[in-house]
Parts: sequence; structure tokens; C-alpha cells
Amino acid sequence: MCGIMGFAGKSKASEILIEGLRRLEYRGYDSSGIAVSNDDIIVIKEKGKIDILEKSVNEINPQGNIGIGHTRWATHGIPDKTNAHPHTSMNGVVTLVHNGIIENYIDIKSDLIGKGYAFKSQTDTEIIAQLFDYLFDGDAISTMIKTAERLKGSYAIAMLVNGFEDKIFAMKKDSPLIIGIGENENYLASDIPAILPYTKDCYIVNDNEFIEISNNEIKVYNDCKIEKEFCVKTIDLGIETTEKDGYDSFLAKEIFEQPKAVKNTISPLIKDKKIVLPFDFPDNFVEKLNRIYIVACGSAYHVGMTAKYIIEDMVKIPVIVDIASEFRYRNPVIHKNDLCIFISQSGETADTLASLRKAKEKGAFTLSIVNAPYSTISRESDAVIYTNAGVEMAVATTKALSSQLAVIYILSAYFAKIKNLLSDNELMDFVTEIQALPEKIAKTIECNNSTRELAKYISTKEHIFFIGRGIDYPICLEGALKLKEISYIHCEGYGAGELKHGTISLIEDGTIVIALVTDKVLYEKMISNIKEVKSRGAFVIAIVNENMSDIVEIANKVIYIPDTIKSLSPSVSVIPLQLLAYHTTKEKRFDVDKPRNLAKSVTVE
Ligand code: GLU
Repeated sequence: MCGIMGFAGKSKASEILIEGLRRLEYRGYDSSGIAVSNDDIIVIKEKGKIDILEKSVNEINPQGNIGIGHTRWATHGIPDKTNAHPHTSMNGVVTLVHNGIIENYIDIKSDLIGKGYAFKSQTDTEIIAQLFDYLFDGDAISTMIKTAERLKGSYAIAMLVNGFEDKIFAMKKDSPLIIGIGENENYLASDIPAILPYTKDCYIVNDNEFIEISNNEIKVYNDCKIEKEFCVKTIDLGIETTEKDGYDSFLAKEIFEQPKAVKNTISPLIKDKKIVLPFDFPDNFVEKLNRIYIVACGSAYHVGMTAKYIIEDMVKIPVIVDIASEFRYRNPVIHKNDLCIFISQSGETADTLASLRKAKEKGAFTLSIVNAPYSTISRESDAVIYTNAGVEMAVATTKALSSQLAVIYILSAYFAKIKNLLSDNELMDFVTEIQALPEKIAKTIECNNSTRELAKYISTKEHIFFIGRGIDYPICLEGALKLKEISYIHCEGYGAGELKHGTISLIEDGTIVIALVTDKVLYEKMISNIKEVKSRGAFVIAIVNENMSDIVEIANKVIYIPDTIKSLSPSVSVIPLQLLAYHTTKEKRFDVDKPRNLAKSVTVE
């Protein structure tokens, strides 16, 4: 979601800005723009893809060596050229780009209109420019400080200020911003990948810091305008491939990469069939562990729901799973013996970050499960476990989710062992099963062809239902989300026993119901639920373990997945659901990587 790139150096700024924005493209955006400082400030912006912006930039060919760029994911105002960033203030004092949302923009806007300011766009962002313009006292840093005092909400802002042609100014609150330090060139970005081709020396900007960047100097001020020392960190990351490696899409590539992603996630956490976490819990914390909260959004929330089934079964302590946007505004009761786990692929999810801060305020020990190194959630948590899935480019998550599930298995076994609920041998068997997962996932991906065939039929439908019981239920929710978010078919996931409490009235001749059946104990119950929907005309696609072949008598179509122990089944059962979503979307000829309205990293509320 939205991206910022800034450059101050000797090279042609427009080329570096476009290249940086491309590296942020996967996060989702609807328009983009750059501003380059030469004698004048030249602003170029366009609706749609960066290719369109690049064409305009090439035609205008701005020559400056200093500039800012932005990919916008519209929150306030339609995605069009006027609303695209950068925005310039009425008197031309400042030109800026912004990630985030200004919550009190209506008040500020009406105030400024009263003072004679005219607005061109519908965005909340434009008020920042006009407010800065109004407050400008000849000093960019003190004007930023005064501007920040008036703003409520979240922001990362980069600006070019008239009269300071060789500088970029920046400030942030609750939205990431990173400075890249090079040889006589410096960079600014909302995300590390944007600057990795140029430098690995970074400074991660904190809230309430006010930044001045030129080609050979970086100054960091606090909110009293006192210059601060800052520590440069060398980022230990390679420039990850952003190529599709022969696949037709990042989604396909990432689905097929899952065995590797899971292997890379579990390998550092298992040594000699024992679990080693990359941090220590406080003394006796696990022994006294009373309750676990898991807080996340979207697919990561489904991982949390899956974790509830596994941890309650294996560790015998209650697990409360919350949607982050709810957790942050309710008043959860958290005790000192409770653990709060936060799951986020990007490590920047705004609601999850706010929930983490709330849990910390309440004194909880916080653990995050994050894919993006150096992200805010990972930095602010007491402990972090990285899912080493590699950069995930497709908006719909696949390999990050599989890696998150793997971390949950590891944690469950770790807790169960400490609480003496697993013997050494049981732990060894469980770990062996976890280590077998990459191969089983690879084997499951072999159902690619059968899911492609079924997708032809699914793509003709307007509504699809997913049903499952026990640990299959959260995976049904994930299957429904995956299919609806990219194919735009209305899908719902249900606990199979719950359907008859209302939703079964929607089942009619030919309605597709996808039934997930991996738990032998619940097999008979699922058969009854499948019969209930079939007798109302449903076309049932059953996804079952290899040893459940008699289901072929009941379901219309069957997809077999490898057997594994119950707790680990989500890692295999989710695969056909991802493939169905991918092939159905291909059938419908939609963009599988960049579904409409969605962004990869949700950095606003
Ligand atoms: N709220 C701003 C807008 O709608 C910024 C959106 C973004 O973060 O891209 O223009």
C-alpha cells in the first residue's frame, strides 16, 4: 500500500525515483508521481501503472538531481491524476508526498479555506501542504514541527521546500520511513527494498524526528529542533529477485515456492530434532503461561484461528484470537502471564502495529511472527520469529501464510514440551512430521491439473461456499478469502455445522460447495453435512486425505491430499484452495497478482 522514494545526489533523480517506485509497486497502488527539484520544482503525475508515469517523465525529461516520488493507494478521493501525489501548496512553498491518513483533515481544511487557501484535490494529503505553507516561517524544520503538532493520524511525508533546492525534508508518525546512506548520494523510502540496489546502510526514522537530507549530509532533529545523533545500520539483506522465473505470475511462482519457504522457515528453528527459538522467554514465563492472545488481520488472522485449534489441543491453555482492528479499540483483559502474538507478513500492518502497542502498554510479553526483516512490528515486539518466506509480491498471500503456519507448529511443540505435555519421543515424532511438510506440500501441488479443470466450472458461478469442521474450518475461511479476493466471486467459509443456521437457504441447484475433510474423528459429521447440501442441489467438491476414498460415492468431485497428523493438515489442505483461486482467476482473465482495490501491505486503518 502506497510508497515513497526520495533521492538527493549527483545522478538523474527521475530515473532513480522511477526505479525505486517500481520496487515498491508490488505493494499495490492506483496512481503515481514524482517531483524533481532543479531551478524550479517539476511535478509529473499519472493515474494507473508506473509505465504510464515513466512515459510522461521521459517526454518531459526533468534534469534535477534531487526529487521525491510516490505510489498512491487512494484513501481520500478517487484515484485520478489530480489526487495523485505530489501535492504543491497554493503559494508554491512546498511540494510533498504522503503515506497514511490525516484524520483531522476536514477541520484543518475548513480552517485554511477560511484563511483564503484554495484546494485542488479531494485528498487529506493536500491539507498538509497547505498547512505547511500557512505556517512557513522561513525554516523548514521548525515549520515541520509546527505542522506535525496540528496533524492527527498516520503519516510518512517527504517534501521539497522552495528556497532549499538541494534538500529533501521528511517526517513520520506510525508509518515507516527509511533513509539510505550512499557515497555523495542519499535516499529516502517507505520500505527497504526500494533502496537496496543502491545502499545497505540505513537509518530507520522514528516518530517525532524531523529530517533534512542533501547529497552529502543527513540531519535528524527532535521536536524541539535539537539535532540528534543517529546510528546507521547495515541491512543484512540481498536484493531479492523480483522476477517471475518463468511463471506467468508472482502468485503461481509463490504457490510453487511453498516447499522452499516452509523449509527455510523451520530450518533455523530445529536443531537435532529439538526446537530452538531465536530468543528467550522471561524466566518461568512458559511454565506459568496462562493464556495466549493472537492478533492479526486477513489471512494472518486465519493462521491465528488455526493456531487456536492446535495450541489448545497440544498445550492445554486457552487461546483468544482477535482481528487487530477490533483488538485495538476494545479493552482486552491481559494479565502478566498472558502472551500476545502478532502475525503480519509485512510487519507494517497498521492495525496489528497499534494492537502490539496496546498490548505492550498493558504490560504483556509480545511476540511477533513477521516476514519482512527490520519492519516496525518486528522491531517493537519483545521477541520475533521471522518466516523466511522471501519477498512475497502477489497481493494474495500464499507462501507467507504457509510459513506462518509452520511457526505455529513449532511454537506449539515448544510450549507443549516445556509444559511436559510431550515426551522426548513424541516431540521427536512431531518435529519429524514438521520436517516432512515441504515434501508433502510439493506433492500436494501436483493437484495443479485437477484444480485447473475444476476452475473452469467454478469460474461460471457467482457464489461459492466452503465448509469444514475443526481445524479445517479456519482453512475454509482462508480458501474463501483467497478465491473471492482475486476472482471477485462471492465466497463464504463456514463451520460445516453452522450452515444450517441460516446460510443453507442460499444453496440451490448447482451451487458449488467445497468441503474440506481431513479429520477422521469428524468424518461422519462432515458426510452428513455434505449430504444436507447435496440434497438441496449443491455440487460438492471434497478435498480429503488419501485414505478417505469412499467419499467418492457422495461428493461430485474429489481432490486427494497427502495424509499428515491432524495438527499439521492445514499446510497441505490450503494448497488446493490456493490453486483453485489461482486457476479460477486465470479463467476469468483477471490480474492474479494485483486484484482491484487491494494493497499488499495495509499501512492505514
Ligand atoms: N491518504 C492519502 C491519499 O488518499 C495517501 C494515501 C496513500 O497512503 O497512498 O491521497
